[in-house]
Amino acid sequence: MGMTLVLPAAAEQVLFTNVHIFDGVSNKRMENASVLVDGNKIKTIARGSIEAPGATVINGGGRTLLPGFIEAHAHLMLMGPSLPAMESGTTWEDFAIHGTRMAEMYLMQGFTTVRDAGGGNGGLRRAIDAGDVVGPRYYPSAAFLSTRGGHADFANYTAPVGESTNFGRLNMAQEVDSVADVQKYGRNNFRMGATQLKYMQSGGVVSAFDPWQLIAGSQSEIEAAVQVANEYGSYVMAHSYRKEAMMKALNAGVKSIEHGFSFDCEVAKLMNKKGAFITTNLTAFDPGLLDIPAVANVPASLEKAKSASKTFADYIPNMKKCPVKRAFQTDCVGSVGACNIQIAYEKHLNNEFFGPYASLVTMTSVGGELVALSGDFMNPYREGKLGVIEEGAYADILLIDGNPLEDFSVVGTGDKWFDAEPRPESPETIRLIMKDGVIYKNTLN
Ligand SMILES: [Zn+2]
Repeated sequence: MGMTLVLPAAAEQVLFTNVHIFDGVSNKRMENASVLVDGNKIKTIARGSIEAPGATVINGGGRTLLPGFIEAHAHLMLMGPSLPAMESGTTWEDFAIHGTRMAEMYLMQGFTTVRDAGGGNGGLRRAIDAGDVVGPRYYPSAAFLSTRGGHADFANYTAPVGESTNFGRLNMAQEVDSVADVQKYGRNNFRMGATQLKYMQSGGVVSAFDPWQLIAGSQSEIEAAVQVANEYGSYVMAHSYRKEAMMKALNAGVKSIEHGFSFDCEVAKLMNKKGAFITTNLTAFDPGLLDIPAVANVPASLEKAKSASKTFADYIPNMKKCPVKRAFQTDCVGSVGACNIQIAYEKHLNNEFFGPYASLVTMTSVGGELVALSGDFMNPYREGKLGVIEEGAYADILLIDGNPLEDFSVVGTGDKWFDAEPRPESPETIRLIMKDGVIYKNTLN
């Protein structure tokens, strides 16, 4: 039996009239404009009207037209409640079903592109791009590359070194303890559909074996990851906390620093010199984190959390003082409903810390530049730009009530996290969602 999901067909041409454009870059909207979409690309942008006989006309009614959002660090496969629980008690079906539901949730939250920071291989992207699953453009990293006892070692305490694991068999996480391991599993990741590599250079707070201060991997191991990525014209993203770790990664050629909680102006300088990016999950600075059971009830985790939050106190001030290219990330692991809430709260915190304009740039054009680092042949979406409204760019477009440069809440923020109410499938203020020229939501009529 075959149940085929019927997607709305892309019209040949769609003409948006009467819109104000936020293009992903400029701090002012282009007022009273029109945008003509031809197939899956933006063909023409103009003030006033555009002559396009035969196009399907969508009157924007003075709303804001902007690029679809870009999530630079998600884990669509990781369903919770904890990574060891997933390692011991889940099959490929659980992950595939969760990934499918997460993909749809992300698209309906306005994210037309998602970069996966570990766990997802090429299968979900094939299904989305074939139209079998509703979801965003998808940039998976395949297996986390992590040292023994590192941040992606989810095996139980007595698991022998190098033993096959559930995550290893599904190529969701691999233990790499030498240059040869990094090369073997890094290449295997590209074989499995990765568009870039993810290396775990630091530890974490709630994970079992790894102090957050860990500096995992020798310089030559990180360089090996970069070298393998370069073989494919792509790049490495590194889960990196301490300054020493970030400097090491940047000097090895890593292009995307994940979290980077000890960020300072010296790191910023090297980052800008090397053309590297940082992605920030600002929920990590929520004071409520110290109260969640996974932290509060585990003395070792609580101690780690306290020392981490002390060390990371200057993160936001340093970022304002010494700006770098910063992309949006949520890093949610858990249920679809919980991640929906966390995404909305992450949007809210971006605005709280950086204001609407910087937050919008982070969620659009910077993300587009970042995912394009996957290069000329591993980037699955290489025929146009992402994260911008410009002629020749992919037609990934939102129409939103109001002006997000003045009232950021219209992008679908939520000002609560742990005690938030369940959120709607899609924010009401996001009236239209188009990806690749196809309309997935339209409540304008
Ligand atoms: Zn992550």
